Amino acid sequence: MSGLTAVIVALLPRMAFAGRNALRDVRTGVQPGNKTRLVIETSERPSYSLSYAPNQLTVTLSNTAANSSLAPAMASGTLVTAITQVQSGDKLQIIANLSKPIDAIPRDNILLLNPNGDNDYRLVLDFTAGSGVGTATATTTTTAKAAKTTPARKYVVVIDAGHGGKDPGCIGKGGTQEKTVVLSVAKKLKTKLDAAGFQTYLTRSNDTYLKLAHRASIGEQKHADLFLSLHANANPSRAMKGFSIYTLSEKASDEEAAKLADAENAADKIDVSGFEQFDKDIRIALSSLQQHAVAEMSVEYANGAASAFKRANIRQQPGPDVRHAPFAVLRSTVPGALLELGHLSNADEEKLLKSAAHQNKLVDAIVKSVRTYNFDV
Ligand SMILES: [Zn+2]
Repeated sequence: MSGLTAVIVALLPRMAFAGRNALRDVRTGVQPGNKTRLVIETSERPSYSLSYAPNQLTVTLSNTAANSSLAPAMASGTLVTAITQVQSGDKLQIIANLSKPIDAIPRDNILLLNPNGDNDYRLVLDFTAGSGVGTATATTTTTAKAAKTTPARKYVVVIDAGHGGKDPGCIGKGGTQEKTVVLSVAKKLKTKLDAAGFQTYLTRSNDTYLKLAHRASIGEQKHADLFLSLHANANPSRAMKGFSIYTLSEKASDEEAAKLADAENAADKIDVSGFEQFDKDIRIALSSLQQHAVAEMSVEYANGAASAFKRANIRQQPGPDVRHAPFAVLRSTVPGALLELGHLSNADEEKLLKSAAHQNKLVDAIVKSVRTYNFDV
């Protein structure tokens, strides 16, 4: 046992982040060939990056909370002399101090294991003492590249085409139904996001009716990183045009947002059973810290989406870039937004929303908003 073994947990003083991923265990061991093995066990599949400094290896886990009660199991005879946890926002850094420098760990020596009988997800890193060349000089591109190691999994986006089946949503003067327009946009969006390297799921891929709680639960089941609910709007004033973007809050940001949430939530008045129970469960599952984190990430996405729409010269409804209201479909642990793509109640926009060219323009703007969203923060 190394006398240098030390465990320090350095939490930023402001608050402990309630990450979706929980650190369960950190342990070291010796493998044949005098390899040091570092195992980091987490409750969810981790998204991670590696960086190197002289005699130090840092594993940064996204959206993960430090575990102050954890005492890493340190085997003797390894290169690891101490392990420190540092919480920085929603990122958790696990810093391994090393008795000798190492080179960047080759991909073949990095394993991500799925849960089995006694273990959760495990990130397994094997390394030996090396020259440290390319890692000791912290500003070289080697370090930059190492820090940008591709995440171990694709980001998951759930695309929710609003309404469907017996619920047409709003209907334009020319007879265009919201449920049809948003399904068409959702399918195009799925194709382009898949091509851009995301893992996507549609809540519905045909003209079926789904309860709002069911839609939200698909985001949970798929462990989504982002949930996008697509809609088109109607306004008593047929002159009203433009897109608008909403995130979840218990209190509406303005009266118009409140009315819209009532209208969208009315989809469930067709069949209200089931929602109360789900709502209660989610309320229990979400701590206030988690709610805060999900809300912040949602607003960050929504702001980026508003910019992407504006940059694509898509007309915006007058008012703030992002509004908030208690939308049932957004009530989950998954950050997300409800996108009202335009007004079917306006004759010009009804024509646009039906056209493939405009649908593609909307899709391209949404793809940009997803690509620029910082999933790791
Ligand atoms: Zn709608």
